Amino acid sequence: MSTTETDTETDTEVAAVEAALDTLLAEHDPTTLSREEFRGLQYDAGLAWVHFPVGFGGLGVRPNHQKLVERRLRQAGAQSLDPSTFFMALAAPTIVTHGDDEQKQRFLRPMFTGEERWCQLFSEPGAGSDFAGLACKAELDGDEWVVNGQKVWNTIAHLADWGMLVTRSNPDLPKHKGMTYFALDMKSEGVEVRPLRQITGEAEFNEVYLTDVRIPDADRIGDVGEGWRASLTTLMNERTTIGGGGGTPKRGSGPISALVDGWTDAADHLKTAERRDRVMDLWVEAEALRLTNIRASQNRRAGNPGPEGSVAKLASAELNKAILEACIDLLGPDGLVDFDFTFRRPEGLSTEGIENGVRHAFLRVRANSIEGGTSEIMRNILGEQVLGLPGEPRVDKEIPWVDVPRS
Ligand SMILES: Cc1cc2nc3c(=O)[nH]c(=O)nc-3n(C[C@H](O)[C@H](O)[C@H](O)COP(=O)(O)OP(=O)(O)OC[C@H]3O[C@@H](n4cnc5c(N)ncnc54)[C@H](O)[C@@H]3O)c2cc1C
Repeated sequence: MSTTETDTETDTEVAAVEAALDTLLAEHDPTTLSREEFRGLQYDAGLAWVHFPVGFGGLGVRPNHQKLVERRLRQAGAQSLDPSTFFMALAAPTIVTHGDDEQKQRFLRPMFTGEERWCQLFSEPGAGSDFAGLACKAELDGDEWVVNGQKVWNTIAHLADWGMLVTRSNPDLPKHKGMTYFALDMKSEGVEVRPLRQITGEAEFNEVYLTDVRIPDADRIGDVGEGWRASLTTLMNERTTIGGGGGTPKRGSGPISALVDGWTDAADHLKTAERRDRVMDLWVEAEALRLTNIRASQNRRAGNPGPEGSVAKLASAELNKAILEACIDLLGPDGLVDFDFTFRRPEGLSTEGIENGVRHAFLRVRANSIEGGTSEIMRNILGEQVLGLPGEPRVDKEIPWVDVPRS
């Protein structure tokens, strides 16, 4: 496509987004409506996810125009997103890509308004990095599926109305081919959610036991046996969201702002030349990552991110850990005390936890290099799918799942 064609397309798309915003804001004042009401109207105007199809919360334009929506709505006083709706960023693209029109109609609007919250039921005790090895069994019985198994590390499952559930529907096929994806009503009989406590004291995640849970076939997302493909859409969006590629944060915001504050407030004897260098290096890295994420999101023409999301996820996980370590170091001996391990059930999700202070954040970001895929797995994806290096030997890829040795 020539530059002129691209420019014309951009102008037309921006004009469509601006026009929809003008109409929405002329007719409705976000400061006088509840968050839920205003977000419903935003969805109806096609401004929920601008790259989604018309009629399903979008305008069918490129995803980078979403930042224009966020900016204008923020200026108009619209309330920010409820942090317990994090999984919307994963479930919505999965449903819009793999769901049928009835499912899009049913799920997308209440998800966007926050009336229905979602969680992710992927990991199992025996299947984390090798998530395609999962064992949770789904058997068809008439027009319902009967599901039995255990999921683990399920963030916010105690608050969720719906779960993105991936199951083993055919154990005789190779592992990637016998998986089926469902929207699970978390209030179904046979769903039991138990808290798991983290190093921060919070039980932000859970284990979820599924015993003879019946799921209507109408809640299957994608074809039978196509669960791996649908899961990849969820995972790619998860990595981009955790990696910070989902938005356009301000320069110096996020964990790096805590480090700058830590430097400003540090005792004089702690402000050594080595620590100053460390603060500067981390600030430059944070800014380089922020700009890389903005460039990557501007280059995205299609809805779902590719493997480059793994680069952002890897870089932000390692950077967050280094920044918070430096924050604790700047506290000197005070960095050894005043940690709060009280058992709590959080109402929201923050993968950095910086709003609860640097001590809490120092502990919370340890999970950044595990959740959403570990840093080792991100390096594998980066090596194989971005750099084109030879793949890891995968000896169980072609054999039936049931024949794969497992402990
Ligand atoms: C805070 C938090 C929130 C989470 N939320 C959810 C959620 O909401 N829903 C959900 O389904 N899951 C969730 N998870 C689970 C997460 O996705 C898994 O923990 C993660 O994928 C790793 O799996 P595992 O814990 O089984 O570790 P394993 O896969 O057993 O890995 C153990 C170690 O081996 C390494 N390793 C494994 N395979 C390879 C390989 N091929 N090459 C190199 N190294 C390898 C790993 O990097 C790791 O260091 C969450 C985890 C955390 C920490």
